[in-house]
This record gives sequence, structure tokens and C-alpha cells, in this order.
Amino acid sequence: MPCKLCENDPVISRRYSGENLCSKCFFRSFEKNADKELRNQISHLVSNSKIEINMIGIGLSGGKDSTVALHILKRYSDSRGIELVGLCVDEGIEGYRTESLDCASDTCSELEIEMQTASYKQLIGMTLGELLDKNPPSASPCSPCGILRRRSLNNMARDAGVDCMVLGHNLDDFSQTVLMNHSRGDVPRLIRMAPHRYVQPGFIPRLVPLRRLPEQEVYLYAILKGMKFHEGDCPYAGKAQRNTFRNLILELESKQPGTRHSLLSGMEKIRKDAPAPSSLSPCPTCSEPSGGDGSCVFCREFGSFVV
Ligand code: SF4
Ligand code: ZN
Repeated sequence: MPCKLCENDPVISRRYSGENLCSKCFFRSFEKNADKELRNQISHLVSNSKIEINMIGIGLSGGKDSTVALHILKRYSDSRGIELVGLCVDEGIEGYRTESLDCASDTCSELEIEMQTASYKQLIGMTLGELLDKNPPSASPCSPCGILRRRSLNNMARDAGVDCMVLGHNLDDFSQTVLMNHSRGDVPRLIRMAPHRYVQPGFIPRLVPLRRLPEQEVYLYAILKGMKFHEGDCPYAGKAQRNTFRNLILELESKQPGTRHSLLSGMEKIRKDAPAPSSLSPCPTCSEPSGGDGSCVFCREFGSFVV
């Protein structure tokens, strides 16, 4: 079947919408979707929290998602005179992270964007591998890694003075997180997911402009646009708990195209009428924003390692 819009040869067939699109129409559709998400998310944040956006940070890994998100963000920020800074986290994963950060660095140089890096070694005095050797997690290595990444990114973003931070999460990532939160009955966490609509003291709000675009489309866009990105997988990725949800959603999507979009819209309906989240309070140990009354999750898990 030719392209639905111009009869050229298609590069993609979207089962969830029934569209076949040629490269030109695919680019237009992809960028329209991501641009609109970014504009809407920023506009909600600005109107709810009465802030100005002068500087935006972007979490960069050098992989396809954050590389594509950076190109989308760059066009938005250039047309509005907004400053950008690339924020990279080095977990110290051998044979993986150095190569991916080299890609991120090349992209930042090409787009003339400053890039900053923070490491787990700086944060807790150990790389991820050293931490896992010393303190093997009962579940997946991604649980401690996620806590450390969120802390590193928030610290870097706040120190850089950004008003919000963009992440490259795609529709597959997003729908997996929605289903994981549902499966735990964790509605508060579902409501707290990015895109954040309010600024909380000490916590940099996160935006996710690719959240309606499937992972395969992000990959196709990056390839067809000739972007340089890192394709390797983290050596611990096979142990991630979200793999179960990934496989489940892919099976559901193949039998019922549109499942990922439905998970996203269901989450939006749940939180549409939810009240503004209660303020985060400073952790009594480290003073960083914390969701509960006691110490934050970082202090509970890593307090004894802090250097
Ligand atoms: Fe960390 Fe898991 Fe991602 Fe590897 S796959 S970088 S361990 S969160
Ligand atoms: Zn703390």
C-alpha cells in the first residue's frame, strides 16, 4: 500500500492507526506529534506554576531516544531563545557507558550545546559495578541504578539552573511504567509520572515529548535522519523487571494494536481530575525533596555510602 497522504513508497506501516507513510510524511507526522507534546507540556507547567522557561536541561545517554529528543528540543529552543544544557550520568558500566557518552558528546558538539556529566563514583564513591559487588540487590540492578540516576540528574539540573528537564522516554517506556504502577496498585506513583505539571521546591520537573511515539518509530526516525547514536545494551538490561512488562505489552499490541496508546490515555484520564500533588518535604538527612515524612529513598538505600 502506498503512502496514505502522497502515494509515494511507504517506509512505515502503523498498525495502531492503519496509516502507511513515506519518509517525508513520516517525518512530518513524527515531528508534529513530538513538537505538540513539548509545547503542551511546557505550557501546562508554565501556566500551573507561573514560571518562565529560560533554560532547559536534557538527560542524554547517547542512545536513540535522547538523541532524537535533543534534536526536537533544539528546534523548539532555538526559535524561542532558550538555552540548553545536556546532562549525562556515568554509572561506570564498563564496555558500555564510555562509548554511549562519546556519542552524546559528539551530538552536543555538532549542535553546539554544553554537556555536563555526573558519575555514581562522585555521588556514592563507587561505580555501579562496585556497588553491586559490595551490596548485591535482592531484585534487579536497575532498582538501585534508577535511584542513583534520578538523584544525579536532579542535582546536575538544579546546579545548572535549568527550569525543567526533558527526557527521551518513548511510548513503549511510558506504557511499561503505567502498567507496572497499575500492577502494584500504586496510583500515587501513576499520578506523579512525568510530564510534571507543577514545580516542587528542589525538584526539577521532567518533560517527555516522545511519550506518544513508539520505540520503533523513534529508531526509524533516528536512522532515516542519519543521526549518530549508540546502539549497545547495558550488560544488566536482561535483569530488568520491566522486561516482563515489555514482553507482555508487545504481545498485547500485536493482538490488539493501540494498546500502548490506550494505557497512556487511561493514565491521563486518571490524573486529569487528580488534585495538585502535595508538596514534597525536605529529607531530614540530606535536605533533598522527599515524598514521605522520613528519610528519602536515596538516604535509606545509600546513606552509608555517601562520600
Ligand atoms: Fe542502570 Fe538497569 Fe539502565 Fe543498566 S539497564 S543503566 S542497570 S537502569
Ligand atoms: Zn535524603
